[in-house]
Amino acid sequence: MQKIAVFPGSFDPFTVGHENIVLRALDLFDMIIVAIGIHSTKKPLLKIEARLKMVNRVFESHDQVSVDSFSGLTVDYCRKVNATHMLRGIRTSADFEYERAMSQINKRMLPSVESIFLLTSPEYTPINSTIIREIIAHGGDASQFLPSGIHIKDYL
Ligand code: ADP
Repeated sequence: MQKIAVFPGSFDPFTVGHENIVLRALDLFDMIIVAIGIHSTKKPLLKIEARLKMVNRVFESHDQVSVDSFSGLTVDYCRKVNATHMLRGIRTSADFEYERAMSQINKRMLPSVESIFLLTSPEYTPINSTIIREIIAHGGDASQFLPSGIHIKDYL
């Protein structure tokens, strides 16, 4: 059976921390789908189309990685694409507590999908999209926190 992992998130924007999780997971799965969740309540920095374009650009040389967007429950999206796994990254104990609850609930709702967590590489621990979003919104240079070759002005 093909191992298909869904990596769900807001990715507003997609950072080096997210990229690192996907790259390290390549050996674990046949296919990884970066799935950008559409939340009607959150006011995003980047439009969904821009985020799709950005993640496509980051993984353009990796056939194993695709990108998609979805609205609604992650478990429903996993069902739709026949996912076998859900991939998430963990930076801190706060992440762990949140991810534990989410994963245990998701497992009850969709037992066939197993969640896999990768611990962040130490240098990426402080990187979170909220802080990077603030830097960009105030005109700061966030390039060191974004995957190489990504120029944020192309996506705003
Ligand atoms: P969400 O809104 O679902 O938290 P994010 O885009 O913030 O979406 O994050 C998606 C996933 O990537 C989550 O599992 C999060 O813990 C993980 N993640 C975010 N930043 C990092 C990082 N710097 N290193 C490792 N994992 C990260």
